[in-house]
Amino acid sequence: MSVIYNRVALIGLGLIASSMFWAMKRKGLAGEVTGYARSSQTRDTARRIGLCDHVHDSAAEAVEGADLIVLCVPVGVMGAVAAEIAPHLKPGATITDVGSVKRDVIDHVGPHLPNGIHFIPGHPLAGTEHSGPESGFAELFDNRWCLLVPVEGSDAKAVARLRALWEGIGSNVEEMEADHHDLVLAVTSHAPHLIAYTMVGVADDLRRVTDSEVIKYSAAGFRDFTRIAASDPTMWRDVFLTNKDATLEVLGRFTEELFALQRAIRTGDGDHLHDYFTRTRAIRRSIIEAGQDTDAPDFGRTKASS
Ligand code: NAP
Repeated sequence: MSVIYNRVALIGLGLIASSMFWAMKRKGLAGEVTGYARSSQTRDTARRIGLCDHVHDSAAEAVEGADLIVLCVPVGVMGAVAAEIAPHLKPGATITDVGSVKRDVIDHVGPHLPNGIHFIPGHPLAGTEHSGPESGFAELFDNRWCLLVPVEGSDAKAVARLRALWEGIGSNVEEMEADHHDLVLAVTSHAPHLIAYTMVGVADDLRRVTDSEVIKYSAAGFRDFTRIAASDPTMWRDVFLTNKDATLEVLGRFTEELFALQRAIRTGDGDHLHDYFTRTRAIRRSIIEAGQDTDAPDFGRTKASS
């Protein structure tokens, strides 16, 4: 595959940025990649592991001359970072982000950008519970979706070029409107994370009563919640604070359904429970058919790794 952008700047050097870097290198999609992260510790780690061709000590230096700038920082600081780099952007450059929420990023980044800059927000639907510069890997985005959320008046050629980059990285790309994106992600990602955090928190409270049995016997469902609930606290704090309305809407519905299931258990309404679980099992099947997860029992864990 050939070079799509001569110079790419990654701002923030964690899981997503490092995975993008290795995926771009795998296919030679970028001529040169520069990077910047807030702490000298992360910048030193990046230099040590060869993450980026050049790691700079300021965001302004990192974006100098870049054709594509990717904001890979927590959603809550996107606006501040945009303000910092705005005076240093090359005219005609494209700026995108990978944030998990889109309306808030558009509202906070857009106003800082000078005319002549193409702003095309994005969100790769891929991740793990790990974070930091050493957590990335080239295959993270393979066969996963990347949603592009062009703002009004986006240049079609600039959008097509960014789409080509994400396709080269391994993703399937679709365009989506920002508010719709935030609602879809509240259902598929944000509310489930909050529920996992809650479940693990509840179990932790119970653990004080049951000693260490919650951890010892965690194979039965709880373990899968703990993986999600180990996700980065800063990232997820920002997701909930910036996707407030959609998350609260979904949690409201969740609470209603939970009450209905609670009532079914109390009144012994087995038909309700059976019908409900039959419907949810079908959803799991359709995720597997769509190639978004493995059909292997227990997510393919081997006995040794479980
Ligand atoms: P991460 O591994 O925690 O990395 C975040 C990076 O941002 C770190 O390098 C951090 O630097 C840097 N940073 C934080 N504040 C900064 C600031 N004010 N200025 C400059 N750099 C700053 O996070 P991630 O998982 O890659 O997530 C990055 C973005 O991707 C988030 O917006 C998140 O919503 C989105 N996203 C995440 C996932 C996922 O599953 N993780 C999936 C899709 C999208 P230091 O190391 O120096 O603190």
